[in-house]
Amino acid sequence: MEYRELGNTGEKVSILGFGAMRLPTNGENNQINKEKSEELLSYGIDNGINIIDTAYSFHANEIHGGAGNSEPFLGEFLETGYRDKVYLQTKMPSWLIEKEEDLEFYLDEQLKRLKTDHIDNYLLHGVNNENWENYKNANIVEFLDNILSDGRVKHVGFSTHGTVETLFILTAEYDKWEMALTQMNFLDETYQTGIEGLNILSQMGLGNMIMEPLRGGRLVQNVPENIMEIWNTAEEKRTPIEWALEYLWNMENVSCVFSGMNSLEHLKTNIEIASKSKVNMISENDKKVIKDVAEEYRQNKGNDCTSCGYCMPCPNKVNIPHCFREYNMGNILNSPKGSARQYFTYFEDKALAHHCTQCGDCVNMCPQAINIPEEMKKVEEYFGDKFNHF
Ligand code: SF4
Ligand code: SF4
Repeated sequence: MEYRELGNTGEKVSILGFGAMRLPTNGENNQINKEKSEELLSYGIDNGINIIDTAYSFHANEIHGGAGNSEPFLGEFLETGYRDKVYLQTKMPSWLIEKEEDLEFYLDEQLKRLKTDHIDNYLLHGVNNENWENYKNANIVEFLDNILSDGRVKHVGFSTHGTVETLFILTAEYDKWEMALTQMNFLDETYQTGIEGLNILSQMGLGNMIMEPLRGGRLVQNVPENIMEIWNTAEEKRTPIEWALEYLWNMENVSCVFSGMNSLEHLKTNIEIASKSKVNMISENDKKVIKDVAEEYRQNKGNDCTSCGYCMPCPNKVNIPHCFREYNMGNILNSPKGSARQYFTYFEDKALAHHCTQCGDCVNMCPQAINIPEEMKKVEEYFGDKFNHF
């Protein structure tokens, strides 16, 4: 297993991190199968993984709900002799922060749930331009300074599904961030913060950690024949999972990739790939193959939206680029269920397609000449008006 510096934190983290959001369950998402999950975590740590990522809400039964069971499970597991072998990373539930006291309340709860006196990496979960305003009203800057100086937290950072603009806002308004967790895989180079975001963050000295490396498994399961044909033109033959992970580890400014592994087979495969991965291992020819595969996937997109945002703001607060991004990604991966999770959770309900009134104000704004109101009807039909796939 290779270890890389996480920005300027002084932490040397395994390039494969254990994401504790998809642990084995006994059916319901909040019913973690303790025995199987312990087996996975101990195998992972005994074989070189030294960083675990969880969150207050992981393994809750509702999307963006309250307390999930990942933290309490980990608290018990780590007490069995593993706490000092890992960097423990968790996240504050940004969507539950309304006032200053909430900040102390959730950190205090999390320390108790994790049965520890400190958290190595404490991230604000899913920060976007809206909830950052709530954080500022709750005096987040003072709070972060305090918890760093009293030692309850060693390093602070954020996770985000926002855009590069979000990164500029966050880094301009607080100067002690040391890491960021962003979404990245070979299909998402220009999606959310993308490659540009990784470069900006590393230039600022922050450590880059990656989520959704396999897009919830959809880049490696049931891969269509036309995609496999392109993969097979490469100089060096790789499996879809090798392509997806090595694409990320090939990048010098990626410190750690979190994967939500829920079977021993998946974990062993990922560890094996991590053990032979390094920076600049993909040839220029094979980089072209990755681009061709991404392009082939994109042939199935629903419309030509480039997320430029010229149609915004919508007078009815619909987030047009977001609706089209998830609609397109659902079509590209032929997985409405997978994209529905992101569609319904990254923005509030009022930003979704079923709130489009067909007013037509956006019609002449789009350089791609997309008939936005008509496309909104399709998005609504595709996802419905509530999340019911969980
Ligand atoms: S047609 Fe729909 S998306 Fe366009 S501006 Fe009106 S409400 Fe917003
Ligand atoms: S203007 Fe057109 S391409 Fe740009 S975000 Fe809006 S719908 Fe997408």
